[in-house]
Amino acid sequence: MRSFVPSEGYSEVSGIPVAQALRTVLVNGGGGFLGSHLCERLLQRGHRVICLDNFSTGRRANVDHLASNTHFHIVEHDVRQPFDIEASLIFNFASPASPPDYQRDPVGTLLTNVLGAVNTLDCARKTGAIVVQSSTSEVYGDPIHTPQHESYCGNVNQIGPRGCYDEGKRSAETLFFDYHRTYGVDIKVGRIFNTYGPRMRLDDGRVVSNFIVQALRNADLTIYGDGQQTRSFCYVDDLIEGFLRFSAAGSACNGPINLGNPAEMTVRRLAEIIRDLTNSRSRIVHLPAVTDDPRQRRPDISRAMAELGWQPRIGLETGLARTVDYFDGLLAGTEKAEVV
Ligand code: NAD
Ligand code: UDP
Repeated sequence: MRSFVPSEGYSEVSGIPVAQALRTVLVNGGGGFLGSHLCERLLQRGHRVICLDNFSTGRRANVDHLASNTHFHIVEHDVRQPFDIEASLIFNFASPASPPDYQRDPVGTLLTNVLGAVNTLDCARKTGAIVVQSSTSEVYGDPIHTPQHESYCGNVNQIGPRGCYDEGKRSAETLFFDYHRTYGVDIKVGRIFNTYGPRMRLDDGRVVSNFIVQALRNADLTIYGDGQQTRSFCYVDDLIEGFLRFSAAGSACNGPINLGNPAEMTVRRLAEIIRDLTNSRSRIVHLPAVTDDPRQRRPDISRAMAELGWQPRIGLETGLARTVDYFDGLLAGTEKAEVV
């Protein structure tokens, strides 16, 4: 078992000493897309942050800019193995999230979610930490009710190619609520709906990053199936704000709580918006549909609004423009120049 205790320290936010508010926060998966934004926001608030990651789908480059902060620590570790870290708050964001990533090693994905939950909850049980789980809209599977309310139990194909992720996340939710009821662990379960923004990988495989990179390269935008399936896209800053509010909510606020942007659209419409936004010469083409692709997805966020006073603030065009800038920067001067 790995044990790690960070050094003491003080920080200032806006010139105000925040020693009293200083907490040690463990972020499992802190080297990933969402986790790196979370680490950054926690450091800005003056907390000490431990980023635990095995860097399987995340990258050190996501947190390189935080390395000089003495309150930031990286622990390279796999959540499938036990760990023992002193923290007062834990975010469990460690799991592959993009369908190509989680289907590459389905057994590993299921175990990351199940054993990762057990090891994270055991750590919280020992230290008394509040523990926040990054669950997913995938627990609703291919939903027959829309919008999806937290009371809906979902429609998941447990033996299909998405089952490793969907059932891993569903089992993790079960473990969270059982540790809460059995051992009194202070849990918070947030169900994330499709979130996008800077620091997604170029080859992440999710729709927003695929379409933007394809558009910037003037390559075909690849729609899987007829493009009439819907998603609701949330900008990363809004999502992280929701999790920060949730983690600070009273101990009676366990969730599950949907966190996402209810503005729903077809994948076809998303392709058109991104092509227009980038002034791209790309064609929009259709490839075969992927197995068990949910036909519709839209969060009911009334619970998040009531319990956290939270709702997304950043519209799709603004969020996409920031994300396009990010990918444009990554591509600038290299492969983009070769293709144009
Ligand atoms: P990501 O792949 O960028 O980040 C996941 C991080 O977890 C990576 O840094 C990866 O290296 C790390 N990781 C994976 N397996 C690990 C293991 N066994 N041990 C230690 N670290 C491990 O994906 P993301 O989009 O940032 O997703 C973060 C979390 O949010 C995931 O749990 C995901 O299921 C959840 N989520 C994300 C979305 C979304 O739209 N981005 C939607 C629903 C749920
Ligand atoms: N999708 C697509 N083209 C791509 C990538 C994804 O049409 O290049 C579709 C995918 O089939 C799904 C939607 O976009 O219907 C969202 O896919 P993503 O992988 O981003 O997220 P998830 O399926 O997990 O919601």
